[in-house]
Amino acid sequence: MKNKIPTPEEIQKDLQDFVNRKYGGTVQLGNLAAAAQAPSPESTEDVPSPKKTFDLKFDLKPKEIKKYLDRYVIKQADAKKALAIAVCDHYNHVRECHENPDAADADYSKQNIVMLGPTGVGKTYLIRHIAKLIGVPFVKADATRFSETGYVGANVDDLIRELVTQADDNLELAQYGIVYLDEADKIATPPNIIGRDVSGRGVQTGLLKLMEETEVDLRASHDVASQMRAAMEFQQRGKVEKEVINTRHILFIISGAFTGMEKSIKKRMHQSRIGFSANVVSQTEDAGHYFQHVTPKDFIDYGFEPEFIGRLPVHVICSELEVEDLFHILKHSEGSIIRQYEQAFQAYGITVMFADSGLHRIAEKAIEQKTGARALMTVCEKALRDYKFELPSTGMQEFVVTADVIDTPQAELQRITEDGTYNRNIVMHEQIRRYEARFHAEHQLQIRFNDDATALLCERAIANEQTVHQLCDALLESYQHGLNLIKQNTGQSVFTFPKAVVENPDTVLEEWIRKSYTKKR
Ligand code: ADP
Repeated sequence: MKNKIPTPEEIQKDLQDFVNRKYGGTVQLGNLAAAAQAPSPESTEDVPSPKKTFDLKFDLKPKEIKKYLDRYVIKQADAKKALAIAVCDHYNHVRECHENPDAADADYSKQNIVMLGPTGVGKTYLIRHIAKLIGVPFVKADATRFSETGYVGANVDDLIRELVTQADDNLELAQYGIVYLDEADKIATPPNIIGRDVSGRGVQTGLLKLMEETEVDLRASHDVASQMRAAMEFQQRGKVEKEVINTRHILFIISGAFTGMEKSIKKRMHQSRIGFSANVVSQTEDAGHYFQHVTPKDFIDYGFEPEFIGRLPVHVICSELEVEDLFHILKHSEGSIIRQYEQAFQAYGITVMFADSGLHRIAEKAIEQKTGARALMTVCEKALRDYKFELPSTGMQEFVVTADVIDTPQAELQRITEDGTYNRNIVMHEQIRRYEARFHAEHQLQIRFNDDATALLCERAIANEQTVHQLCDALLESYQHGLNLIKQNTGQSVFTFPKAVVENPDTVLEEWIRKSYTKKR
């Protein structure tokens, strides 16, 4: 029987197996099929070579960066401030060098950054948004991916090459990029710990070289595909142009939880109270609190090389998120996952509304997982998976994510799909809450229909075939003016509406205004 002709993928797999056996994983084959296709002998002009044009127009001020970050990132005010300053210093300097390449900058010390804080509190999120705002490429990797010898097929130089990919092969832009290395605490090699592998030190040395200034060859020696491309280029042109990227202007950020470091800071602070008040030390056990006082020596004691930590002069502390912060992330962050859910349901013509009670419950459940804001998605997915599956086929047009939906998703799903009146009632309640919120935002007057008034509003809206919004607008026509008058007379700005407001809005308002004048006197 004739042998079947192998596919390019099969050839690639066989070759990679061979290479693995021979070199033990130090060499990666990459995508040979693509490499083989890239240049053809007839079209040497087509050999892709990195683009080189880019004009960095950086003119942001620290406050502008902070303001932008505030739209997405909740809390972490100190971190935003420190980052905004460091990033402005860095890119102002880069711009000056770009505009005047001859200017000597030998004395300039780059503002590379260490970020300390637990997982899921916005460290990556902050940097990602900064990169987006400035328009520079961003690469994130876990420090655990690297080792001294590169036996896993990755070394720190790969980060720089990834920047070029992120910059769409624009070499110049890549040289202004941001490299973010998470889990950096894993490359610490504490002295006195016997048996712990020392590869972390090698990674530190590799990173140190990049952070200082070096040129990284765009062709990785362990990437056979790019080596083959070079060989073909050589065949066609008789020479291979060396493409390198200089790391002088790349901003490096390392981050981690640095678990346990707070203990040594605490110890140091206890031993020498100079400069710290005693009650500051004893008041709280929160790691974030101690991190505020971190010094390079703490990093060295933790297992970092002094030269390495010396290249990371900016320390940024991110604090733990609390339930209320998670609630704010859901409700107010422009990047809130809630928008994703709204869009996902809208694709089927379903309007989903997240009630505050539902958001609170999501936040409460998420905090238990101790993974910061990351858990918000997990909680939502778990609760809403069946809704995503079932509701598109039911013809339902709107529903509300209440605390009950989060607590007992299946039971609530059954109830809202089987009992139309029940669902409509919940939707109307939520619409009333939203009307109150809008009234507050527009008029700075906090109004609240009590339970009886809310129930009556729902009844009326159904009977009159009006939306809640139309009904409330008609009822409260004179209220903006009237309540403002009361506010002027008495200072009152929070109003609870009883049932009577729905029954006889004008009579009630007149009575309230009349009373406000007696109170004034
Ligand atoms: P880490 O601190 O571990 O780097 P991330 O920044 O990756 O955590 O956070 C994971 C996700 O959680 C982000 O993509 C973002 O959606 C959300 N998130 C985390 N912290 C915040 C925050 N402070 N404000 C708004 N969203 C946040």
